[in-house]
Amino acid sequence: MSLEHDNDLSSTRQEPLHDDGGLKLAPEKSKPLETQNYLPFRRTYRRSRATNSSFITRLGTFLVALAAAFLVFLVKRYELDEVLVRVLGAEDHLQVYRTGAPSRTGHLSRDYAICTRTKGGIYTLEERGNDPEWAERTQCLVVDKHGTIAATGSIDEIKTTHPQLRPRFLPSGSTVVPGLVDSHVHLMEYGWSRSLNLEGTKSVDEVVQRVRDYILARPLVHDEEWIEGVGWDQNLWENWPGGFPTHDILDADPVLRGKPIILFRIDLHAMWINGRALELCGKLPDKAEGGEIIRNGATGKPTGVFLDNAQLLVPRPQWSQAQMREFVQKGFKDVLKYGVTAVHDAMTRDIAVKFYRMLADQGELPIRMHLMGYMDVGYWNGTERFDHYGPHQRLHLRSIKMVADGAIGSWGAAMYEPYTDNPSTSGFFVVSEQDLKDFIPRYLEEGWQVNVHCIGDRANGEVLDIMESALRGHNAHKVRLRIEHAQILRPNDILRMAKLGIIASVQPKQATSDMVYADARLGERVKSAYAYQTLLKTGARIALGSDMPVESPNPLVTFHAAIARVNATGGSPHGPDGWYPDEKLTRMQALRGMTTDAAYASFSENEVGELVPGKKADFVVLDRDIMTVDAQDILQTNVLATVVDGAVQYGAL
Ligand SMILES: [Zn+2]
Repeated sequence: MSLEHDNDLSSTRQEPLHDDGGLKLAPEKSKPLETQNYLPFRRTYRRSRATNSSFITRLGTFLVALAAAFLVFLVKRYELDEVLVRVLGAEDHLQVYRTGAPSRTGHLSRDYAICTRTKGGIYTLEERGNDPEWAERTQCLVVDKHGTIAATGSIDEIKTTHPQLRPRFLPSGSTVVPGLVDSHVHLMEYGWSRSLNLEGTKSVDEVVQRVRDYILARPLVHDEEWIEGVGWDQNLWENWPGGFPTHDILDADPVLRGKPIILFRIDLHAMWINGRALELCGKLPDKAEGGEIIRNGATGKPTGVFLDNAQLLVPRPQWSQAQMREFVQKGFKDVLKYGVTAVHDAMTRDIAVKFYRMLADQGELPIRMHLMGYMDVGYWNGTERFDHYGPHQRLHLRSIKMVADGAIGSWGAAMYEPYTDNPSTSGFFVVSEQDLKDFIPRYLEEGWQVNVHCIGDRANGEVLDIMESALRGHNAHKVRLRIEHAQILRPNDILRMAKLGIIASVQPKQATSDMVYADARLGERVKSAYAYQTLLKTGARIALGSDMPVESPNPLVTFHAAIARVNATGGSPHGPDGWYPDEKLTRMQALRGMTTDAAYASFSENEVGELVPGKKADFVVLDRDIMTVDAQDILQTNVLATVVDGAVQYGAL
């Protein structure tokens, strides 16, 4: 149907051309001349009339033909067929025509080819020789109906090798890169965080106002329904004396009072609850292993803030299936909008693993997901490992996530020495060091990829000690241990990362978020923190991620932070050249960090990461060239299409 539709369009396009060629008015010409012999006077008169009429007819026809030819030119030049199709509301059909409709098993109904208008608009990321900065580029991609790249090449090459295909040209100026991989996300939590979003609040009053608006805007199911919000950051509050907020701020508002409320700090490592939620906690222990109950210095009473493991003392109800579905779909929708084709989910609890399996069974995973199984405490006793699960084969569980320490924003990252701006603490471990010593080798022996969250230099150092001894007798390339965040490392530990073949899974946007206070908080230690270029130079592998919802789900925000180390307006505490500019990544290093290197970090380098024949057709069409535009322009980039297994999941080709 759609094909016919398009053929109709092309035949309308073609006809005027034929008319143009057929504008032969010779028979008309001879007719008035015949009369000349009989009525000379009138003949002249008639002839002139006839000539005029013939001239007008000819002129008219010529103008019609000219208009038609111009229309054809416009249609071809500006792709007005698309406009027409959109006016007619036939976009879906157009999409099907172009890429073939994916079936439930992910197969497309036909092969297709896309090309950029310039010769090298497609970055394939194919490696060539030993030059890490080499950018292999091509003009066209041929995708077969299994969603695999069948060929790459110039338009002329494709026309020769695939004469049956009509290559589709992408809008001029657009470029194609391999599907972007976000190596550290919390997808379900992201969707959840977007329901009562406290990001960007500039004062406690604004936080209270947002919670108030949220409560008033939606009917509560019942009075004891828990209200959960995410995203506050006391470092951004104006006229704030410092430290954490307290429950009485929330209790002062009559709308908030009496309803259990939990508000998470943006990094999720601190939870601020109100008086009602505190009551529902019942009797609290004096101390929380791997966390902290913040107490009033004078009275010793809890102030309403719980750090890390202490959060487990708050009796939050479990999310329902309907909530999980809502949150996850929000996550999929947003990441696809930004060109993400695969994520590494950095903390998937057993209940969420089961939920994702169900989605995969139903063919409802629009992106690839690599789960890191997680338990709050103790040893993982969740499901077995699996790979390529579901009809689309997009779900994987072969990694385990452990969390060694807290975060720097709440002084929770485990440091060897106290914080420079808060000498009363040097952070803490979230799991006991003994558990790390017992479990890391055990998981490794059982065949799991072990990914450990380490932010502070002590967490990184001690986990590296454990990994170093656990790796004896193992091939590092086969087991691919990862340290998630790897934020603050002692110089010698950076070298060890490389030597041991441990992957640093880093989130460059955290450097530009933390840069406003990191110098003060870390002192000299900041010089080997967020040291992405040093990690690469010493030979370590990296994978780039966002840590959404802690940071933006847009991978180009990650890319921009990695290559510029400035904020969204181009500034940094060290000026416009960036915060510790020596640690900037090149654009090629950053792009590899979210494609080929990220694929390696999830054992998928044979399937995705590069746009070469035989690999999956996961790619993104961007409206500009992120490898050459001004750094600040990167943030204005629009994604025109996100394609997974050859099928368009967002936008249009
Ligand atoms: Zn995380």
